[in-house]
Amino acid sequence: MGAGPRRPCRVRRPGQAGTGSGGRVHTFAGGELDRAAHLRTDESRIRDLHDSPQSRYLAFRALDPLVSFDTTARLVWLPRAALDGLVDIGADALFLGLGRDGARFAVPVPDTVGPEELGPDESEFVGVREVAPLVEPQDASILALGRSLSIWHAEHGFCPRCGHATSIAEAGHARACSAESCGKSQFPRTDPVVIMLIHRGGRCLLGRSVRAVPYPPGLHSCLAGYVEPGESIEEAVRRETWEEAGLRVSEVRYHSSQPWPFPSTLMIGCFAEALGGEPRIDPAELECVRWFDREELRTAVERWEEADALRLPPPITIAHQLARAWLEDEEPAA
Ligand SMILES: [Zn+2]
Repeated sequence: MGAGPRRPCRVRRPGQAGTGSGGRVHTFAGGELDRAAHLRTDESRIRDLHDSPQSRYLAFRALDPLVSFDTTARLVWLPRAALDGLVDIGADALFLGLGRDGARFAVPVPDTVGPEELGPDESEFVGVREVAPLVEPQDASILALGRSLSIWHAEHGFCPRCGHATSIAEAGHARACSAESCGKSQFPRTDPVVIMLIHRGGRCLLGRSVRAVPYPPGLHSCLAGYVEPGESIEEAVRRETWEEAGLRVSEVRYHSSQPWPFPSTLMIGCFAEALGGEPRIDPAELECVRWFDREELRTAVERWEEADALRLPPPITIAHQLARAWLEDEEPAA
């Protein structure tokens, strides 16, 4: 990040309110915008919303949103006039939904645009992962939607069927192939990932991935992996636990889920009890895996920022919240 405006150090604690399964709403969930999907195909209504004085735009530069740090961290919602000459609103704005006082759009801006050209003095383009714990929970959800949509558009410029160029359609919720003979539409995808806290006899299983870079000393997390085609959530939990740690599990219990906009996955949090035996790692997946008792985990949850023998991912992650839920005996009943 480097030098910049002084940031407030208040960090919101995720997972403490809401009505999701397990009583938790994770960071990046809990959005309050009305996504108003019926408007996306209504081109004249979307044009009217582009021009409406109530509409506001959130600028993303290289996937980083414009955030103000004047009193507290908050998203900078720009009027259309602020983007004149920088962005083709009609072609590039992504409709996020309807807020209490008007429509909300995400809009990519060129890498050459500085925050001082757009926002108030104390504003910056900041990484979503960094700013999510600082803003209101409903705004973190907007960041997730805006970032995932933005990267999807950036990476889907060509038709997967015929190779011709594609363009934004449905107010940013689809891309259409330019070849008349093809006409294929693509839609933003979300990839399901199971993430599971495996436990047995008052201990839980955490591992160190070989793929996460950089990986601070002591950091351990829940086992996790993509759901494969033709596979249920429960089957994915069983397969990944067997492949990564060599353990069979009994019943798989769903706890809660989290959108994770890096780039666009849905983390599906589960618990499962290991049937027995000791873990053996798949060295292609994990550097190590071992059992931790409740006291070790409690210390890690309370001192997650400190380098101890066990270090957990930060509170914005579902891995951290699953560990916390297990300590609080939140595992769903069979
Ligand atoms: Zn095509």
